[in-house]
Amino acid sequence: MSEYEIVIGLEVHAELSTKTKIFCSCPTSFGAEPNTHTCPICMAMPGTLPVLNEKVVEYAVKAGLATNCEISRNSKNDRKNYFYPDLPKSYQISQFDKPLCEHGYVEIDTEEGKKKIRLLRIHIEEDAGKLNHDEFGGGSLVDLNRAGVPLIEIVSEPDLRSSQEVEQYLRKLKSILEYIEVSDCKMQEGSLRADVNVSVRKKGETKFGTRTEMKNMNSFRSIVRAIEYEANRQIDVLEDGGKIEQETLRWDEVSGKTFSMRDKEDAQDYRYFPDPDLVAIKLSDEYIENIKNGLPELPESRKKRYLEEYKLTEKDANIISSSKYLADLFEEATKICNNPKAVNNWIISDISRILNETEMEPIEIPFDSNQLGKLVILIDKGTISSSIAKKVLVELFENPRDPEEIIKEKGWIQISDEGAIKEVVLKVLSENPQSVSDYKAGKDKALGFLVGQAMKQTKGQANPQMLNKMFIEEIKRI
Ligand code: ADP
Ligand code: ZN
Ligand code: MG
Repeated sequence: MSEYEIVIGLEVHAELSTKTKIFCSCPTSFGAEPNTHTCPICMAMPGTLPVLNEKVVEYAVKAGLATNCEISRNSKNDRKNYFYPDLPKSYQISQFDKPLCEHGYVEIDTEEGKKKIRLLRIHIEEDAGKLNHDEFGGGSLVDLNRAGVPLIEIVSEPDLRSSQEVEQYLRKLKSILEYIEVSDCKMQEGSLRADVNVSVRKKGETKFGTRTEMKNMNSFRSIVRAIEYEANRQIDVLEDGGKIEQETLRWDEVSGKTFSMRDKEDAQDYRYFPDPDLVAIKLSDEYIENIKNGLPELPESRKKRYLEEYKLTEKDANIISSSKYLADLFEEATKICNNPKAVNNWIISDISRILNETEMEPIEIPFDSNQLGKLVILIDKGTISSSIAKKVLVELFENPRDPEEIIKEKGWIQISDEGAIKEVVLKVLSENPQSVSDYKAGKDKALGFLVGQAMKQTKGQANPQMLNKMFIEEIKRI
C-alpha cells in the first residue's frame, strides 16, 4: 500500500437555490408531489424554447469568484446528447468548451500545511428528472420535478491525494457555497453530490494511472469509504499484474464494495454542439465587478479574524467559521453579551453536541443570537447557575423564547440569598454527619458530595460558589 499514491479528482454538482428552474419558470423547491413542478419546457414538448434564467449566471459567477476563478466574458450553452428515461429531450443543456469559470482553486488544511486544490472549471447545466422504481407493481415511473433545476458543476484537477484531503476539500467547498448563499448544499436531498474519480500510481511515478469514476455520491462517510475500497482494489489488480479499466462504478453502501456499471464514455460520445435555441452569454467587466463587490466575507477571512480579534483557538475558529450560520450566531450573540469566550464555549460544546445528537444542521437552530446572548448575560450576572443555563438551552431548542421569561416561568432563578443558602447548608450538614467527619479527616471529596446534596435539594438553583464557602465555614463550627 505505502508504495502507492492515490490520485483523486472530483466533479461536484451543486443545485443552485434560485427560485425557478434554469430554462423555465417552474419552482425548484424539493419534496413536491411528482410532476407538479413541470411545464411544457421542462417536460421537453416539441416546439418549446428555453430562456436562460439570469440568476443562474449570477450564482455561478459568484461561486467562481469565491473560488478564485477567472470569469469568461464570452460563454455559451451546449447540448450534451445521450438517452436516459429521466432526460426526455435526449440531451442535457450544459457547457462544453466555454465554461463560465475556469482556473480557480480552493485552499485546504492538511497535516503538511495549506494546500491549493486547483479547479479546472465551473459550468452551469440543468439537472435531469428522477426515476422512481418499484412503486407500482415493479415498474419505473419518471418524476420531472427535478428536470431543469439549475446546477453548477465544479471540476477539480486531480490534485487530491487521500480520502482525508477529499473530505477537507468537500467540506471547504460546501462551506463556501453556503456562505455565498448559492446552494443550500443539503447532501441528503442531493443538492450537493460528487462524482469521484480515483486512480493509483507507484510513488515517484510522474504519469497518472487509469481512473475509475463513482457517480453521484452524497455522503462524506460513503465517499471516504468508497475511495479507500477502490484504491485498494486497484492496487490489488496492479499487484496481480492486471490492468485497470477506465469505467464507471457504483458504490454499494451495504457490501462496502464497488461494482462495474458501464465503460466510461468519452466527450466525443456525447456529440456536443452549441445549443441553437440559446444566445451566447456575454458578461461585462462591470457586471462581474458588481458581483465581486457584493460577495460576503468568506470562511478563511472570518477564521483569521476570530484568531486575532477574539483569540479563539485554531480548532474552535475552524469549527465556528466553517458554517456561516454558526459564525453569524457567534458574532451577533457576542455583540449582545460582550463575552466571546462564553459564546464560543456554548457553540463548541453544548450546542454542537445537541446538533450532533439530533442530526440538525446549524441553519436549523431554532433560537436566535439575541436569545443566546441573553442567556450568557444571565449567567454572567449570577442570575442563573451554569447547570440551570444548560436546562435553559434545552428549552431554547424545544420552544425558543426569551431566556429571562423561561427562568421566571420555570422558577429557575439562582438562589443567592445568604439566609436561604445557610438554611440548606445546615440541613444538609445535619443529614450527613459521616461526610462531615470525612471532610474533617482530610477527605476533600466529601465537600463535593455535600454541595451536590444541597444542589439536589434546591433543584440546581443554589449559587455553587456560595454553597462551597458556606459549607467550609459551617463545618469549622461543628
Ligand atoms: P468526465 O466528465 O469525462 O469524467 P471531466 O474532465 O469532466 O471528465 O472530469 C474528469 C475528472 O477526473 C476531473 O475531476 C479530474 O481531476 C479527474 N481525473 C482525471 N484524470 C484522473 C486520474 N488519472 N486519476 C484521478 N482523477 C482523474
Ligand atoms: Zn418547467
Ligand atoms: Mg466524470
